[in-house]
Amino acid sequence: MAKKATLLNTKIWLSSPHMSGHEHKYIKEAFDTNWIAPLGPNVNGFEKDLEIYLGNETHVAALTTGTAAIHLALILLNIQENDEVICQTKTFAASINPVLYLGAKPVFVDSEKDTWNMCPVLLEQAILNRIKLGVKPKAVIVINLYGMPHKVKEIQNISKKYKIPIVEDSAEALGSSYNNKKCGTFGDLSVLSFNGNKIITTSGGGALVSKSKEIKTKTIYLATQAKEPGLEYSHVTTGYNYRMSNILAGIGRGQMEVLEAYVELRRKNYNYYLKHLKHLKVIKFLNEPEGFYSNRWLTCIELPTKQIRDELLKLLINNNIEARPSWKPMHLQPAFKHYPKYLNGISDKLYKKVLCLPSGSNLTKKELDRILTIIKQYFG
Ligand SMILES: *Cc1c(COP(=O)(O)O)cnc(C)c1O
Repeated sequence: MAKKATLLNTKIWLSSPHMSGHEHKYIKEAFDTNWIAPLGPNVNGFEKDLEIYLGNETHVAALTTGTAAIHLALILLNIQENDEVICQTKTFAASINPVLYLGAKPVFVDSEKDTWNMCPVLLEQAILNRIKLGVKPKAVIVINLYGMPHKVKEIQNISKKYKIPIVEDSAEALGSSYNNKKCGTFGDLSVLSFNGNKIITTSGGGALVSKSKEIKTKTIYLATQAKEPGLEYSHVTTGYNYRMSNILAGIGRGQMEVLEAYVELRRKNYNYYLKHLKHLKVIKFLNEPEGFYSNRWLTCIELPTKQIRDELLKLLINNNIEARPSWKPMHLQPAFKHYPKYLNGISDKLYKKVLCLPSGSNLTKKELDRILTIIKQYFG
């Protein structure tokens, strides 16, 4: 009886780490060979695994966090104080904070309804308006939100037309693809995260993906205090301590063995929710447009009103189920709301109406059914 009660009340997490059992062999090897440092065979191995997985002639540098990767991406693009960087407003603050580290200025652009990512039409309007005001933006940060690829072709065309480079924040979208090419390869520089809640994790970690060996080398140089070659400790520029630990890279290598399987499991969760909720016409799901393939990092549903969303959110939390509203847009954040913005109402609407449901690759059918029972109970 007591056991049953515990089972019923066990917390269901939104997106918890999911170890495969393959991680230990790489970590053990690191201990056995004393590679307990932010360099070593696991770091090189993890980078190679990612390069092979992403394809498209990518070069990957493993770093401490996704946020560090965005910071270095902006430095590599030579973003300086007072420069303007166009940013998707609908995202997590980590996408934006590095712009502020550099004393640069974010300019927020709203989403379109098909993918919830940056609206190409509004992006072009924003660029033209900034140019008219006398400052050409130096970069665009675009997101693949909740695993859904952004409108790659349209955004790339604008980037080429105005010669403004793209940073693709693919922290949530490892395993997603667009026209059969992997997300994380679409920016002039792209960013991955291996934080504890992402599709695969190293507990904390990130990577910068580029198209050339020289950029990878430069990234590693900046991430290791910008020490010049040679025996003397010579420095000609500011460096950072952003290199990934060889222990954590070992976790990453183990996780890479199951990445494809985890994408399948997250997509299965999405389809299970869809199958059991689609008869409730008030709930909207985000379909994949043709050519778009999402890792379904999080399954998100759009409800008819904020009130319904909030009531359902509360009900789930009261039942020990971790659900969340979707990211609060950056232009609404007290920290960022004074920066320029180009809006169409979509991110505001999504913020009010969208609910993120538990989506981990380690969810059991029992747990999914417990969540579904509560949602169905709410709608009677
Ligand atoms: C998680 C996340 C990041 C930051 O990654 P960290 O590894 O946690 O620093 C950046 N952008 C988005 C959209 C994220 O979800």
